[in-house]
Amino acid sequence: MTDSFSNLSLAPTLARAVAEMGYESMTPIQAQAIPVVLTGQDVMGAAQTGTGKTAAFSLPLLQRLLKHENPSTSPARHPVRALVLLPTRELADQVAQQIKMYAKYTQLRSAVVFGGMDMKPQTLELKKGVEVLVATPGRLLDHIEAKNAVLNQVEYVVLDEADRMLDIGFLPDLQRILSYLPKQRTTLLFSATFSPEIKRLAGSYLQNPITIEVARPNETASTVEQRFYAAQDDDKRRVIRKVLDDRGIKQAFIFVNSKLGCGRLARSLEREGLRTAALHGDKSQDERLKALEAFKKGEVDLLVCTDVAARGLDIKDVPAVFNFDVPFNAEDYVHRIGRTGRAGASGLAVTLVSPSDARLVGDIEKLIKKKLEVETLQLDTRPAGPPPEKWGERAEDRPRARSQEGRRRDDYDPRDALDAPRERRGGFRPAPINRDPFFEKPYEAPAQESSPSWEPTAPRAARSSISANIKPKRKVAALFKSGD
Ligand code: AMP
Repeated sequence: MTDSFSNLSLAPTLARAVAEMGYESMTPIQAQAIPVVLTGQDVMGAAQTGTGKTAAFSLPLLQRLLKHENPSTSPARHPVRALVLLPTRELADQVAQQIKMYAKYTQLRSAVVFGGMDMKPQTLELKKGVEVLVATPGRLLDHIEAKNAVLNQVEYVVLDEADRMLDIGFLPDLQRILSYLPKQRTTLLFSATFSPEIKRLAGSYLQNPITIEVARPNETASTVEQRFYAAQDDDKRRVIRKVLDDRGIKQAFIFVNSKLGCGRLARSLEREGLRTAALHGDKSQDERLKALEAFKKGEVDLLVCTDVAARGLDIKDVPAVFNFDVPFNAEDYVHRIGRTGRAGASGLAVTLVSPSDARLVGDIEKLIKKKLEVETLQLDTRPAGPPPEKWGERAEDRPRARSQEGRRRDDYDPRDALDAPRERRGGFRPAPINRDPFFEKPYEAPAQESSPSWEPTAPRAARSSISANIKPKRKVAALFKSGD
């Protein structure tokens, strides 16, 4: 096969690490990007996580840095030569781990810095000198200000998941960081989509970039079975349980649109006897890494997460993804369902659609260019939602619900990025966010059921250990306070 790594003439130290990783041939993004990056040209790459993008930029970058390899213990001999910027801690950690693996037989040093962790250990590492620095923008600026990181010898900068960095509001931070770098450098920008904002960013900071596009952006993998089920909010958990039971699915990601909803849903599912963990921006770094580890080890069945927290996580073989909430951005739908059906495995993506979600489903239809059918799943006791005809209406025929427009801004919390943009951390305070319509409407007693729907009569399985997600029951009034 022509896409063999042996065609690249990688240095033996790098080739050995690649062989140890078990890679047999290059992925499409690698086959296209590596030869270009080896020539030192700027690249604008449309590729999503899961395509092998990290190796696509880090292998050629390491290869070009080998000329600086040296065994000296002097920090001055190990200045930062390559900077890789990512939007979230998890992604930074994941990319840094991969780079460490690829560089393990070289004398090049790498380190990762991100917010939410003590700065001291990061400072010690930086002071010793590193050639490759992986970072989230906010924490990197902290280190620059503290004079722990000097970037005047950077030769390569990678803006990874650039669209997400802009979504989160990192543009001012990126601009500041880029202003510290030498003009003479190679810049690589990777983004899931080439929106006008991304093109503007590229226009300002890239020089004659080579554009590489491996899969059509917004394409959903053909290995993922996509289902849309009508479900009123109160029925959504039952739909999830039915799908899990009917299909014998053991593990799944469940996506929600807000951190409040994330914690609340995780606790409800725990009460129903499902081993669940929550992953969102208000969790400490330690809690998040533990939740991920537990999921990877199979100690947790359901990982309830927000988009930013879960973006790009490389967890293999997730059999199913549920969209408990239809995402506000259609592009997030593509990212979410990309968590399943990876590497050719089959996967299931179930989206739970309530009547007010019609417009959002219409947005997804337009993006993925596929007519979507919203089905009704028969639940044991109550119908799951309105009759199918209602869902047959074209989304465009309906007015956009004002509440959805509002929620798009209010509910999306950039702090989910865990390393919030600087202006949000400093003096500038945006209008209060985190408003959740659920918390704003007056309490309404359930129609006729005497027990809340999250307390089923027969839990699926009795679990002996009580999860950290379960808090002692509180009175209803207490539930409406901001403790979530
Ligand atoms: P990435 O898109 O960089 O996050 O990579 C996704 C996953 O693909 C990671 O687990 C990589 O170790 C793996 N991977 C990267 N390149 C290859 C390759 N050429 N062959 C097989 N697996 C790969």
